[in-house]
Amino acid sequence: MGNKGSFNTSKRRTARAALVLALSAAGAGGFSCAPATPNAKAAPVVKECQIQPDQASTLSARWKLTPIPIAFSQSPGFTASELADMVAAADSWNTFAQSSMNMPLIDYGGDPSNPRMSSATKPTTLCAQGIVQGNQFSGQVVIYAVPRWPYTNLQDAIALTSFCPLPAKPLPTMYMAIMEVNYQNFFTAGKKVPDLRTIILHELGHLVGLNHSCETKDKAGFPNCTSPTLNPAYYSAVMFPVFGFDSSGLGEQKRQLTENDQGRANCLYQPTPSGN
Ligand SMILES: [Zn+2]
Repeated sequence: MGNKGSFNTSKRRTARAALVLALSAAGAGGFSCAPATPNAKAAPVVKECQIQPDQASTLSARWKLTPIPIAFSQSPGFTASELADMVAAADSWNTFAQSSMNMPLIDYGGDPSNPRMSSATKPTTLCAQGIVQGNQFSGQVVIYAVPRWPYTNLQDAIALTSFCPLPAKPLPTMYMAIMEVNYQNFFTAGKKVPDLRTIILHELGHLVGLNHSCETKDKAGFPNCTSPTLNPAYYSAVMFPVFGFDSSGLGEQKRQLTENDQGRANCLYQPTPSGN
């Protein structure tokens, strides 16, 4: 799912980028798409802005400052192994960005074994206050484990990244964001278990400003994921909007950024964002 509409009429609207699950086990009908391409091994690093004409609108927004500080919610918290998975996802983004842009994109505090934690509760009005003051960050993007998922129309979303954009050219500028992980309908006993590292790698893509590689319905400026002629690179991308599960309920793994993910991300943070 893509960015949902605004909640209020002011310029300070919330954009939502949801992540949905496949309706059935991967490859078992219900969702027809291009053939699966496992992406178990790392793609070569793409160092240029590369965006296909049919993906023209798939860049959502950008941060003026990098790296983007994140913090993990303490209560309800994550297990040590979940924290390690999420740090590994952040490191995947940083390894790529270091190679391509000569800078990290995500700041989790520096120590992988002791990432930054937050006791902040979820803001009631997300966009009322930002985390950018002048030329520095004054707060962090908090990642929450949500035991009671409040989004009744997004029950099948594994996670949700919400951000607050200000109008700017060529792309809106983000000044606030949060990330929520659905621990009501996933991860818990009797529910499907997504690959958290995969999910956070995808959500961090939304956080840096990427929208999905394609959309599951017709949307201007986006390829349609259900098209029989979909570019296979959009399907194998980490930013493909749907993740499959095997018959035991374990989620598919996409733990490496693909060339399509990387090429688009470069367009967000290289000096002259431009399409081709
Ligand atoms: Zn998504």
